[in-house]
Amino acid sequence: GNNNINAKLVLLGDMGAGKSSLVLRFVKGQFLEFQESTIGAAFFSQTLAVNDATVKFEIWDTAGQERYHSLAPMYYRGAAAAIIVYDISSTESFSRAKKWVQELQKQGNPNMVMALAGNKADLEEKRKVLAEASRSRVYAEENGLFFLETSAKTAANREDCLEPSRHKIQQE
Ligand code: GDP
Ligand code: MG
Repeated sequence: GNNNINAKLVLLGDMGAGKSSLVLRFVKGQFLEFQESTIGAAFFSQTLAVNDATVKFEIWDTAGQERYHSLAPMYYRGAAAAIIVYDISSTESFSRAKKWVQELQKQGNPNMVMALAGNKADLEEKRKVLAEASRSRVYAEENGLFFLETSAKTAANREDCLEPSRHKIQQE
């Protein structure tokens, strides 16, 4: 049949990890070296064909600063999927990502699909968080998260970021 589905998607993670850049890459196919910081949160929508359905992604791109933390539940409540973004060149951003995962495991919708995205994969020479057979992948496996490394800059894996939410949509 011809279905129209709305899917709420939220991006969480440390300020500067590249959430807005991933959204911009997804929605407009662009990358900005000087992406402005998000204030509060920003909303985008993008419609994609998934099998025989039309999925309208309603994307909440959050700010990431601690001072906006109390607003986060407004954005992740009712979300079908959350993408938790960290920067592979920052161990601090990886710690922050793990905090988000814990919060979502405790307070998020239990059916929500979670993906962990190690962004800035193009900055291999600055890498601090190892990917394979190490911290991030093992952590993701232990916590039942989808895991991938992305680059908003080179567009690596930008579509795959949404794969988990597509699987989810297909199941429903
Ligand atoms: P946010 O605070 O999580 O929304 O992060 P932004 O999207 O604002 O990005 C912060 C900075 O990192 C900006 O200067 C971006 O140009 C840069 N950036 C974002 N993604 C990437 C990436 O994949 N590779 C590189 N090299 N820089 C990136
Ligand atoms: Mg931002």
